[in-house]
Amino acid sequence: MTFKEFNFKDTLNQAISDAGFTEPSPVQKESIPIILAGHDMIGQAQTGTGKTAAFGLPIINMMDGESGVETLVIVPTRELAMQVSDELYRFGKTAGLKTATVYGGTAYNKQIERINQANIIVATPGRLQDLLKSKKIKLNPKFVVLDEADEMLDMGFLDEIKNIFTYLPKDRQTLMFSATMPKQIKALAEQILNNPKSVTITKSERTNTDITQKFYVVSEYERDDALLRLIDYKNPSKCIIFCRMKKEVDRLSSYMTSQGFKVASLHGDMEQKQREHTIRAFKQGLVEIFIATDVAARGLDVNDVSHVFNYHIPFDSESYVHRIGRTGRAGNKGEAITLVSPNELRTIKRIEKDVGTTMISKVIPTRQEVQTKKDSDLLDKIAQAKITPSAVDMVKTLQHDLDIVTIAHLLASIVQQEIDVKGKDTIGLNQDEIKKLIERAKNQKGDGRRNSRNRGRGRNNRSRRDSRRGDRRGRRDNRNRDRN
Ligand code: ADP
Ligand code: MG
Repeated sequence: MTFKEFNFKDTLNQAISDAGFTEPSPVQKESIPIILAGHDMIGQAQTGTGKTAAFGLPIINMMDGESGVETLVIVPTRELAMQVSDELYRFGKTAGLKTATVYGGTAYNKQIERINQANIIVATPGRLQDLLKSKKIKLNPKFVVLDEADEMLDMGFLDEIKNIFTYLPKDRQTLMFSATMPKQIKALAEQILNNPKSVTITKSERTNTDITQKFYVVSEYERDDALLRLIDYKNPSKCIIFCRMKKEVDRLSSYMTSQGFKVASLHGDMEQKQREHTIRAFKQGLVEIFIATDVAARGLDVNDVSHVFNYHIPFDSESYVHRIGRTGRAGNKGEAITLVSPNELRTIKRIEKDVGTTMISKVIPTRQEVQTKKDSDLLDKIAQAKITPSAVDMVKTLQHDLDIVTIAHLLASIVQQEIDVKGKDTIGLNQDEIKKLIERAKNQKGDGRRNSRNRGRGRNNRSRRDSRRGDRRGRRDNRNRDRN
């Protein structure tokens, strides 16, 4: 299927092909006809599935672009406001549509001026409510979109949203998008939508096949070594490392910096300016590793992230899906790598079941394996390198005192030092050990979630003891392997 089948206006088809979109994504295929037919709609699909274009394209196609704000999009954060408005701008500009963003922390007058000139506004709830309440602006949009509704709920914007809708005309087409559907969001939908059609992109459809998912089993104390070894081996162009807490982000950032990586970190209580600055540096490739918490990385849209590392496995499946969705975007291939302790194997199984996906169990490459790979990469690099005039001069100078083979040996030694792999020989568990642990986990009752919630209750003591034993056993096996 192509975008042609929606019979969009020529200007819009032009913009779609300029954007390099060839085939509509599942959520786009289903939503676009419903929206074009004038229905209210509620759409549920994971991040990165193209929800912005799913509502943006049909709305832009239906806009007349004549007077005032015809489309209002409400998003939870300033950063998303900018992202969504960029995307809508590129589809609307061929039709002459003007887009404005509305968020807190900037001067009112300029913003109001821009709103008055715009056809589409993308706003965060706080500032929008402010402007409407104080009657600084009056809106009469035909199309209203509530994007990332579940995130609005998480951020405590529910009351603002309800209040904003009291200022909007009854005669409008309303669309709501959300990655998950908690019951408060369903209730909100009943309040603001009129006979909505719903589009749900099911689990199998939403699992992005462009992302390879792997996990490695390591002991608690090996996480840093494992991460370093894997980064050394995979040599990611751009990667994100997810941590559970800000504290961990800070610690890991200093550690990775001390290991010579260009690192930036992102966490919840960062100033907006600093946050944008950091994200820009990452997008531009000035930073190769991004270390973040879940919350901080919400909605982060960087297209060429090659690897996502879960330093710790996230507790709930939605977070997992969200995290790994930061890679494999826009048709690129991506790799999602999760480090787990033997105790956390059950969490892997639970997430696999929830998400309808498979994570492949892998063994961390040994020091020698990484060294061999790096040596061979270096040989390739030498074979492909171009000789520069200054290099020729340098060798000439060296030849006054040394023969050519000695010079070559010396130069190779210097280069080799740069790719010297550090750390212990083996890290983490091998395939046999992992298999045994998985068998044990299967024989245990209940899932990780229940066990950790009911900690201390008699019924679960046994499985706790078992899993602890699993951990110890893993370590002992490890030592044996080292000795062999
Ligand atoms: P979501 O809102 O579901 O998280 P986005 O709308 O932000 O997803 O889209 C994610 C990325 O995919 C964006 O960079 C967008 O430009 C791109 N994209 C969306 N739809 C398509 C498509 N049909 N073909 C190619 N790229 C697309
Ligand atoms: Mg979105």
